[in-house]
Amino acid sequence: MAKIKRILVAGGAGFLGSHLCEKLVERRHDVICVDNFFTSQKANVAHLIGRSNFELIRHDVTLPLTLEVDEIYNLACPAAPGHYQYNPLKTMKTSLLGAINLLELARNCRAKILQASTSEVYGDPEVHPQREDYRGAVNPIGPRSCYDEGKRAAESLFMDEFRMYGTKICVARIFNTYGPKMHPYDGRVVSNFIRQALTDEPITIFGDGSQTRSFCYYDDLLDGLVRLMEDETGFIGPVNLGNPNEFTIRELGELIWKTLGKEPKFVFKELPVDDPCRRRPDISLAKEKLGWEPKVQIEEGLRKTVDWFRSIDVAEFRPPTPNY
Ligand code: NAD
Ligand code: UDP
Repeated sequence: MAKIKRILVAGGAGFLGSHLCEKLVERRHDVICVDNFFTSQKANVAHLIGRSNFELIRHDVTLPLTLEVDEIYNLACPAAPGHYQYNPLKTMKTSLLGAINLLELARNCRAKILQASTSEVYGDPEVHPQREDYRGAVNPIGPRSCYDEGKRAAESLFMDEFRMYGTKICVARIFNTYGPKMHPYDGRVVSNFIRQALTDEPITIFGDGSQTRSFCYYDDLLDGLVRLMEDETGFIGPVNLGNPNEFTIRELGELIWKTLGKEPKFVFKELPVDDPCRRRPDISLAKEKLGWEPKVQIEEGLRKTVDWFRSIDVAEFRPPTPNY
């Protein structure tokens, strides 16, 4: 029987956070989900409310909080471009003050803390695929910088916390992840394409669709996060977690139409400023240190995601921002 731990999931009502809460509750841990519901809604964790090992706290991580916990997953941050650009000053505050407050909490209760960082720390990369020792090409003053630089500064805070106080930290650089419970109006490519294709609208390709991304199914990603948190060798990262299978955005669109068994329809729109041209993780470090690699291939992941989108009533979802 594994030890039951008290685990805080900040951003626990979001897409990845709600799946993580579910996984940890199923493993019988005492789970505390903290969220301000900016980009999520209670419905994501409604099925956990009432379970004796689950608590939900409405709280904004830019404010300090006091709890007694053994582990902290810091996932609290808007993640989709339309969401994080809605109030960029708040996005930066969430990354910085959220990291500062949660690191202090970890230090005070000697908890281990995991930072959900991002492939965006590599910006529009000149090195391909991206390894963890690549320092990135981020525009520090562009519309994505509130997120990219916020996440970079959070990594810096985590490393300094480790060097100054020896607090148990770890940092995962997450690449594009998709799956059931993505917000249907988050504006991200997978959710947009599926929502549009299900209603027979042409899907919106930004630019000519030749830019690439590598898509990881959420279940694989969570397995990586938990392995990193539970690692006892002293490995702190940063470590890339993502699926190295790289697709152009047009290829992704074609795959989604194929999954639905419909004739492809595309409409082309302007490419957003600073949209990275390509992105693919080198996951050698995760393989070596965590014995981790993704298992779910895109066809299967898309099928499951499409099934979930079919099962929901999109009208019940409040678009968090007008930017979808
Ligand atoms: P999400 O938007 O669904 O989840 C983020 C959650 O954080 C939401 O529930 C939101 O309400 C909450 N939140 C935002 N600001 C907060 C604040 N100030 N205080 C408390 N809660 C707050 O996004 P997601 O895809 O689940 O991403 C989770 C984390 O993983 C984020 O930190 C994101 O940067 C990181 N990440 C995700 C991806 C991806 O592809 N999904 C890729 C890289 C990194
Ligand atoms: N994208 C697109 N159509 C959409 C939404 C996104 O072509 O409706 C493109 C976007 O320009 C980017 C890629 O898909 O090149 C991934 O976008 P997303 O916002 O999902 O993630 P990120 O850019 O943060 O990797």
